[in-house]
Amino acid sequence: MLGLMQSQPLLISNLITFAERHHGDAQIVSRRVEGDMHRYTYRDAAQRSRQVARALDGLGLAFGDRVATLAWNGYRHFELYFGVSGSGRVLHTINPRLHPDQIAWIANHAQDEVLCFDLTFLPIVQAICGKANIGHYIALCEADQLPQDSGIPGLRSYEEWVGGCDDRYDWPTFDENTASSMCYTSGTTGNPKAALYSHRSTLLHAYGAALPDAMGLSARDAVLPVVPMFHVNAWGIPYSAALTGAKLVFPGPGLDGKSVYELLEAEQVTYAAGVPTVWQMLLTHMKPTGLRFSSLKRTVIGGSACPPAMISAFRDDYGVEVLHAWGMTEMSPLGTVCTLKNKHLGLGEAEQMKIRLKQGRAVFGVDMKIVGDDGIELPWDGKTFGNLLVRGPWVLGQYFKGEGGDPLQGGWFPTGDVATIDADGYMQITDRSKDVIKSGGEWISSIDIENLAVAHPAVAMAACIGMPHPKWDERPIVLVVKRPGAEVTREELLAFYEGKIAKWQIPDDVVFVESIALGATGKILKTRLREQLKGYRLPGL
Ligand code: AMP
Repeated sequence: MLGLMQSQPLLISNLITFAERHHGDAQIVSRRVEGDMHRYTYRDAAQRSRQVARALDGLGLAFGDRVATLAWNGYRHFELYFGVSGSGRVLHTINPRLHPDQIAWIANHAQDEVLCFDLTFLPIVQAICGKANIGHYIALCEADQLPQDSGIPGLRSYEEWVGGCDDRYDWPTFDENTASSMCYTSGTTGNPKAALYSHRSTLLHAYGAALPDAMGLSARDAVLPVVPMFHVNAWGIPYSAALTGAKLVFPGPGLDGKSVYELLEAEQVTYAAGVPTVWQMLLTHMKPTGLRFSSLKRTVIGGSACPPAMISAFRDDYGVEVLHAWGMTEMSPLGTVCTLKNKHLGLGEAEQMKIRLKQGRAVFGVDMKIVGDDGIELPWDGKTFGNLLVRGPWVLGQYFKGEGGDPLQGGWFPTGDVATIDADGYMQITDRSKDVIKSGGEWISSIDIENLAVAHPAVAMAACIGMPHPKWDERPIVLVVKRPGAEVTREELLAFYEGKIAKWQIPDDVVFVESIALGATGKILKTRLREQLKGYRLPGL
């Protein structure tokens, strides 16, 4: 017997329609590429999203056609999120930090029909337009800002393209399993592969992410997604914000500490989200001048491990709660968020901190387990580590065009991360499986080594990698960027590890460097570091 409730597909257009009807006057504020601030409301955004849908009809785009973006976080990008997907086309957000050749490859692989881009990225578009088979180029600007003689065929301005369209439009109803958006993984080896999200997966993720023990967004929040809309849909925040009616604050290209701080204060942001490197820049900006937050209460940090020193700095120095979160492109991205349970509330600060450092508990909708190399499930004791596998309605089933064959193992998606899970279900990432250091049959977590290094006051950034060793197989070394004006020697840093980890886990060497290469999504590029260290020999070898 079937239930007798209404059957309505879960569609992305429902989100913007809801936001318009129930939070019509809630604000969306954007720092524009032009340098000024732009303000409008969900009502305006909904209206312009419908105009986008009409403009796509005007180009003759079919259902399922791909519309790409190369854009910062801003209101026009937000309109495309809803106008493109809502009208049944697929939004393809491209990461502008990739090499132009890779971008051209991705655009052709995705068969993008349209590319909408911020003027910042004009040189990239000029570099790819001869190589990519894209039919329509749209610059996200006013008609009078359109670059002349750009060499880009048929270039039009977004405002001219969308502005003249009728804003009356009935969002189509279709199967909720229809593709809505896509995102290519950073892929350190081989060609990038795309996760193809559906309306259903996106809406369920938006519900899950908004839960109090997940991102916990509400209509009382003013949220600043520093995490880019070109990387896993800014962790789904544009959707969760529309679902809750939270005020949205978009940083545009201004991701440096000063710009982020000014925006947090000017817009009285209560809630922010980003990768550790962005927050490091913010804290570095604030510390010397003694700046304080007047409104910020919580910040979600994920994308790579959040160093304990950062969680403490936000908490102890600024009274801001850090929500450590973990996820990946293939998971839309949210998997776990670290929040305490009722039984932890009576624990002392130090005991609570041990929990907060972990990547957290699964959000309902994500199931996870750890397995050994033999595929057998390992215990949840907080000590045993194994390959982390996940499943759920917003977890990838296969890559776009079936690239890479069947990625699942018995219905579970292998994340490529190595983790422990404790008896309370708190997961802690030890490493990417390819970064974990295998020394004398034991494993050393490169994340632990890096976290300890950045806890030293003279260290700005650290990266730990394993170097081949004839006896031990691999031994860890740590590359360190010093804080400006700060001093620390190799011996002092190695001594700093003593008593904090087992002796055999202490790195064999410290290599001081000017900078550490970051990949397109802000993660340390260990492949590049290994190349740089070709010819390096461990001390004593
Ligand atoms: P991406 O698909 O580019 O978002 O990368 C996902 C990967 O980033 C995960 O598989 C993890 O290896 C890493 N990652 C994400 N969040 C965290 C975190 N909080 N701690 C450690 N690693 C993380």
